[in-house]
Order: sequence, then C-alpha cells, then structure tokens
Amino acid sequence: MLKGKVAIVTGSTSGIGLGIAKELAELGADLVLNGLGDAGEIEAIRSGIEREHGVRVVYDGADMSKEQAVRGLIARMIEQFGRLDILVNNAGIQFTAPVEEFPAAKWNAILDINLSAAFHGIAAAVPQMKKQRWGRIVNIASTHGLVASTHKAAYVAAKHGLVGLTKVVGLETAGSGVTCNTVCPGWVRTSLVEKQISDIAAQKQISQREAAEEILAEKQPSLDFVSPSQLGGTVAFLCSPAADQITGTAISVDGGWTAQ
Ligand code: NAD
Repeated sequence: MLKGKVAIVTGSTSGIGLGIAKELAELGADLVLNGLGDAGEIEAIRSGIEREHGVRVVYDGADMSKEQAVRGLIARMIEQFGRLDILVNNAGIQFTAPVEEFPAAKWNAILDINLSAAFHGIAAAVPQMKKQRWGRIVNIASTHGLVASTHKAAYVAAKHGLVGLTKVVGLETAGSGVTCNTVCPGWVRTSLVEKQISDIAAQKQISQREAAEEILAEKQPSLDFVSPSQLGGTVAFLCSPAADQITGTAISVDGGWTAQ
C-alpha cells in the first residue's frame, strides 16, 4: 500500500514510534528513523527493519528539542529521497510534579519536544507534500491532549496544543491532498510509562505488577495496555485511501479512557 512512499517517524528508536515505523515498513514505505539511544542498538534496529521488510531505512539523530535540527532533518530527507509522504510527529518526554514545584526547565523541554518540534516539522514538510499533492501528517498526542491528570502540567498543555495545531493544519491543507490528524493513545507500556509505574511502586511499596494494574484501573476501562503495533495500525489506516477525507481530527485509542 505504501510502496514508493517515504515516511519520517520522530522518536522511533523505541516504544510507540518504533511500532509505527515497523508497521509502515511492513506496508512498503521507505523509512527515516529518529531518536536517542545506543548507536549499536539503533543500527541493529535499522538494519533489522531493512532486512525484514526489504525497504530502505536511514537513521538521523536530529535533536527534536532544537528548531534548526528539526527543520534540518526534514530538509535533508527531502534532499536525500527526493520526496516526503508521511510525517509522524511522535518524539516525546514526560515529567511529573505539582504545578508549583514544576521546574521551568522541564516545562520548556516538554513544550519544545512534545509540541514545538511538531510545528517546525510540519512547517518544513507541508510545501513538499503540497507539491506532491499527497501527504499524511500524524501527530501522536495522548488522552492528555483531550483530558487532564494531576502533576502533568507541561505534558497536558503540550498535548492539548498538538490537538489544536492539528486542527489548524487540517484546515490549511484541506483539499490539497494533504491530511493532518492526531492519534490519542491511552496507557502504552513503554519506557515512558515504565518509569511512572516504578515511581508508583516505590511510593506505595507495591510490586510493578500491582502498580501497572493500579494505573489501568484508575484510567483505562479495558484494563489492558494499548500496544505500539495497534498504534502502527491506526497510523496505517490514516495513510490509507479510506482516510482521504479524515483531517483535522483526533482519534482516541485508549481502551475507553476518554469515554468516561
Ligand atoms: P519512549 O520513551 O519509548 O519513546 C520516546 C521516543 O522519543 C524515543 O525514541 C526517544 O529517543 C525519542 N526522543 C526523546 N527525546 C528526544 C529528542 N530530544 N530528540 C529526538 N528524539 C527524542 O516513549 P513512548 O511511550 O513510545 O512515547 C512516544 C510518544 O507517545 C510520546 O510523544 C508520548 O507522549 C506519546 N504517548 C505515550 C503514551 C504511553 O502510555 N506510553 C500514551 C500516550 C502518548
């Protein structure tokens, strides 16, 4: 379905981004991986996807907290591949603290990586996608783009911002062959959530398993984690012809979290 198309997935060296990258490769897209991590492990991921799916996969370690690095990544990849069809803005970080104790530096980092990077990436990608008269922009927000939780001031602000940015870009690109949508996952068991599970386990002197059950029981009625490959499937759907008229919207994949 995506043979001949080029996809950039930011923050795809682990977790959700990696699940999305693998799904797009499975459908035949050439890939740009991005994110932090051990060089040897990243190369193993890159060459593994290339071997398994017979697509071209390059890695670019652009730092999503820096405007010029984000814009440079998009420009370099358009230059290298001669096109850009799919941009998945997925890189993200988390930090939790009550608002009055929230360090300003953490606020700035979360806003930069979870929101501003998507703005810079979209701004750099849209002209090329419009020229091609086809493009898919998918922003990975969160249930926290739609509702709030305590101690997540920066994350909730950034993710709500991403949902708003998606609406504007959806309107500005409507009718051009380019769509822009947000995916809002509930709990997914990645390193980002593993840390929160460990913090709860330590705080309450309970096991990791009990802490995981507790966070699900608190928010996610299905009592099960969403998987990175299920989110890959959602992004693949948004890249399919069935989704040509879906733009500017937010799709929840959250086991019922935001239905409550
Ligand atoms: P993760 O920690 O496994 O992945 C985050 C990715 O972002 C990694 O590849 C990391 O290297 C990359 N990254 C972080 N800072 C970066 C930077 N400065 N430059 C480039 N890359 C950087 O976590 P995840 O859970 O897979 O998170 C992916 C996205 O999904 C995030 O935007 C997160 O907010 C969102 N999300 C996660 C959950 C969840 O429950 N895990 C739920 C909803 C939304």
